[in-house]
Amino acid sequence: MKILVINCGSSSLKYQLFDMDKEHVLAKGLVERIGIDGSRIKHTKTGMDAITTETPIPDHKAGIKLVIDSLLDKSHGVLASLDELSAVGHRVVHAGEKFATSVKLDDKVMAALKDCIPLAPLHNPANIMGIDAVIDVLPRIPQVGVFDTAFHQTMPKVAFTYAIPYGYYEKYGVRRYGFHGTSHYYVSRRVADMLGSPIEKLKIITCHLGNGSSITAVDGGRSVDTSMGFTPLAGVTMGTRCGDIDPALVPFISKTENLSIGEVDSLLNKKSGLLGISGVSSDMRDIEEAAGRGDERSRLALQVLVYGIKKYIGAYAAAMGGLDAVAFTAGVGENSATVRSMACEGLEFLGMELDGEKNKVRSEEAVISTDSSKVKILVVPTNEELVIARDTKRLLD
Ligand code: AMP
Repeated sequence: MKILVINCGSSSLKYQLFDMDKEHVLAKGLVERIGIDGSRIKHTKTGMDAITTETPIPDHKAGIKLVIDSLLDKSHGVLASLDELSAVGHRVVHAGEKFATSVKLDDKVMAALKDCIPLAPLHNPANIMGIDAVIDVLPRIPQVGVFDTAFHQTMPKVAFTYAIPYGYYEKYGVRRYGFHGTSHYYVSRRVADMLGSPIEKLKIITCHLGNGSSITAVDGGRSVDTSMGFTPLAGVTMGTRCGDIDPALVPFISKTENLSIGEVDSLLNKKSGLLGISGVSSDMRDIEEAAGRGDERSRLALQVLVYGIKKYIGAYAAAMGGLDAVAFTAGVGENSATVRSMACEGLEFLGMELDGEKNKVRSEEAVISTDSSKVKILVVPTNEELVIARDTKRLLD
């Protein structure tokens, strides 16, 4: 069975084609700058060099057609005909409270996702555009939606309720939703497998640290709290997003800098975080390099990030009443030994003992705590696409 996984942004589209018999990736690629000058597709057949083709791609439908052409191409394609394609799985950011698991996409589900646009005005329209484009190009192939918010629907009310007038929850669905759910789900399951313990018995904290970052408390396999909130702006410091701040900063900055609410929102999303503190970059590699050569504000940015991670680990250990494992994933979590070691430093009292040698690992699964560490610390490269492909297969079966 072959399944295509699509992750559609406003001007880009990532794809992977899986052979589900062995869960192998047959091909993957990226369509960039859709509707913008310089649009291109980068396609890689597993085991071969990537091929980049610059060509006008006016909209998502044109992008999907190019993906299909690449998958069917005689030299670097992997499908003899479209009949080999069983289904398409889509990453969708926000399903509100409507879906707690993945679902087959039909008119009713699409209407429900459109209802969620006010909750994710930047992400859901692009996801929906991608789904519509695939349905247009491949009308007979079943489509499945896998939602970033779904895994967190198990959070108890006490964890998702904001202390503002309750009517806003009832009227507008204002509450903590959480994101990166597919990643937290995958990583927590891998932790259980790697430790050889049933997930039902484990209290795990998964730290997804990338450009966007979130930390989740997974108790017995269920998300019970997570650092992102109503939007992906909350939580730990991110590349350009501020993470947790005093909400009174919004009117303060708006008034003192004479900015509209929209402008402040953009400032908190795009000019804050590591970039805002350091003034150097949003990219952790640049921050580590600048901090290493003595740049004070880059060092501060790094410290603010790891201080936040530590506080979440402590808070979630308290929320779960115990802790068995902490896992690091995504670009920073998988690659930065520095961030991992700074984040674990001083948490020995919780039973976390990092092994400096084992921590030198990069982008591969590993237990990086000492043998005697009560709480296991792990690196687990995330694989959201595989979860989407598996869910899609499960729903077809
Ligand atoms: P993601 O959003 O998961 O793609 O993660 C992107 C982040 O991972 C960026 O901030 C990168 O700087 C960071 N990253 C990637 N490779 C490394 C590395 N070798 N060391 C530190 N950070 C890295």
